[in-house]
Amino acid sequence: MTMAYDPDNIFAKILRGEIPSTRVYEDDDTLAFMDIMPRADGHLLVIPKTPCRNLLDASPTQLSAVMATVQKLGHAVMAAFGAEGVTIQQFNEAAGGQEVFHLHFHVLPRHEGVRLRP
Ligand code: 5GP
Repeated sequence: MTMAYDPDNIFAKILRGEIPSTRVYEDDDTLAFMDIMPRADGHLLVIPKTPCRNLLDASPTQLSAVMATVQKLGHAVMAAFGAEGVTIQQFNEAAGGQEVFHLHFHVLPRHEGVRLRP
């Protein structure tokens, strides 16, 4: 069962420009900005511009747009940070580790032998 979307979640406020963020990419359907507590250099978040609580709540159209941006920025962060790989993370509901209830994917540039920060 999917729970309701809260239009006053932090990422909705970032989308509306009500709280600041470091935007790194934007198109008609998606926005990417730096995570405020990066677990790797270049850690960024990709979100749809339309309301969506998490992956369980996403339409095929939202998923397609967000994943296209995740892929594009995966390549971009690898090039920008000289990374050898990229980790994509995504959490659903509090029990699943989700803290902000607007769909987002973490994009984490990775280097051989370097752990993510907690
Ligand atoms: P998750 O819901 O995927 O478990 O975690 C939410 C992520 O959003 C965390 O990595 C956290 O650092 C990030 N975050 C929380 N609040 C803000 C904020 O106000 N601005 C930005 N840029 N990132 C945030």
